[in-house]
Amino acid sequence: MNIILLGPPGAGKGTQAEFIKANYPILHISTGDMFREAVGNKTAMGLEAKKYMDAGQLVPDEVTIGVVEERLSQPDCSNGFLLDGFPRTIPQAEALDKVMAGLGKRVDLALEITVPDSIIIERMTGRVSCSQCKAVYNTNFNPPVKAGICDKCGGELVQRSDDKEETVKNRLQVYAEQTQPLLGYYEKAGKLKSLDGNRDPQVVFKDVQSLLEKF
Ligand SMILES: [Zn+2]
Repeated sequence: MNIILLGPPGAGKGTQAEFIKANYPILHISTGDMFREAVGNKTAMGLEAKKYMDAGQLVPDEVTIGVVEERLSQPDCSNGFLLDGFPRTIPQAEALDKVMAGLGKRVDLALEITVPDSIIIERMTGRVSCSQCKAVYNTNFNPPVKAGICDKCGGELVQRSDDKEETVKNRLQVYAEQTQPLLGYYEKAGKLKSLDGNRDPQVVFKDVQSLLEKF
């Protein structure tokens, strides 16, 4: 079974991907890892992608889809995969469908985790981690006993620049503009399932499981 994981940054896709990986014989492929592997293994497309990355340029779609094609052709993908971070746009989704058809496969399910923007902003901007032991806290949901200080080691708690409110809002806007149209694309194809991600991750996963049982 081949699954595309969709949802805004901070919706909890990573957590659900971990649960799926732990419970099903499905390969989890994140775009970041896929590029690192392709470049590290010096595949034809990996070398091509590296040219752009070294020049500090955006890797064009045809190269990205080439990297995806190389990865999905590997034998370890034969039991199915969970693709996370790709596709992000309709042209990429169309290119993926072509690649899949060429491999004699298809996308079975586009799984969307939805969470209202206001909740995502609360979740992400509250995130702080210890500069010493890396313990993670959330000032909104799981605050340390003493503000700014790690409970475990007394280290200073810091916020990543990715989690600053302006950055989070910006990423949500990019998602809304680029990736949300994809929902319509997969809905038309009858492949879209949306789950409310504004719940306990274990409860969300129960719903994921009952969806996957149907396949
Ligand atoms: Zn600490």
